[in-house]
Amino acid sequence: MKSLIMIIDGMADRPIPELGNKTPLEIAETPNMDKLAENGINGIMDPIRPGIRVGSDTAHLSILGYDPYKVYTGRGPFEAAGVGVEVKPGDIAFRCNFATQDENGIIIDRRAGRIREKTDRIAETINSMKIEGFEDTKIIFKESTGHRAVLVLRGENLSDKISDADPKQEGKPPKKVKPLEDSPAAKKTAKLLNRLVEKSYQLLKNHPVNLERLKRSETPANIILPRGAGAVPHVTKFEEKYGLKAACIAETGLIKGIGNITGMDVIEVEGATGGIDTNLENMKNAILEAVKGQYDFILVNIDGADEAGHDGDLKGKIEFIEKVDEILEDLMLEDLYFIFTADHSTPITVKDHSGDPVPIVINGPGIRVDKIVSFNEREAANGGLCRIKGSDIMNILLDLMDKTEKFGA
Ligand code: ZN
Ligand code: ZN
Repeated sequence: MKSLIMIIDGMADRPIPELGNKTPLEIAETPNMDKLAENGINGIMDPIRPGIRVGSDTAHLSILGYDPYKVYTGRGPFEAAGVGVEVKPGDIAFRCNFATQDENGIIIDRRAGRIREKTDRIAETINSMKIEGFEDTKIIFKESTGHRAVLVLRGENLSDKISDADPKQEGKPPKKVKPLEDSPAAKKTAKLLNRLVEKSYQLLKNHPVNLERLKRSETPANIILPRGAGAVPHVTKFEEKYGLKAACIAETGLIKGIGNITGMDVIEVEGATGGIDTNLENMKNAILEAVKGQYDFILVNIDGADEAGHDGDLKGKIEFIEKVDEILEDLMLEDLYFIFTADHSTPITVKDHSGDPVPIVINGPGIRVDKIVSFNEREAANGGLCRIKGSDIMNILLDLMDKTEKFGA
């Protein structure tokens, strides 16, 4: 038996007055989701616990059976793993911006004119940098999308208990990084990071890419601003934990990073933008290939509904849900446990994640099919699964797949 868990990021919502107090999922035309509801067992799920406003990362960890309160140390490690840096437990990872500093040491653009090109060449320069007095620490730096990048520090005696260099607003100098605890490791890491920020400006102010940008009257990416330090956690690999060979098909660096850190094969999909313009046909084909291939478990994350939720784009959210519905028909396969759900609600009215539970449906052999015939937040609440937690999912799935041992005699 194979298993597929498909997470439509931020799909769930709250009643919206202009929809007659219906939710986007209740309004959208979703014949295939309804078929999943009709043929499956339905319920609602609290990704961590009722009322907890989860991030996509902590929700996914919980759904995969990892305790986010134990393994989550911040976004840095997952972002770094998501852009393909081979992070190791104990590494300290940061999210960074390429920014613009003027001659007076003031940050005049936190996103370096929303730079999009040749950040790989700037990253190369930072990646090969050595800092005097800290030769034992390896500096790994890689560009991400746009003005974003990741920084990883590897070595002895490092700590993530340090503050940010990013002042979070323009018109100010970079913040002096401070140790947040009285330990030699935190003091060393803070000192190292301050040198790194300073030195990045020295190395980048006359970098060929920036000289070209200046010629075109574009703001140079002449300084690196790290934030959100996190130590890469020790995580038991998914396959070791469950005996299932797993693939991760995701669009955003954050979720790819979850796949990487838990030891899944991360499958890249062309045209997967993470937005409502993403290529769902390519996503579907990648899922089909993985299901028919060597994998026992496939984690899928599709991000567009969350983006529409953050943007308050009601029409976009409804249309995207309908587009997702279209690819589901081909995914209803025999010999497959198919779990369809969301990682949290991103209500249009909130424009951010909320603590509401999400609908969930499971299809597959031996399922106690219930009476629910349409897939949405309110109907699901009347289904046979009742209300579960994200951390229950792997137990339920492993039991269905006959992969668990009896507890007791
Ligand atoms: Zn999410
Ligand atoms: Zn979100």
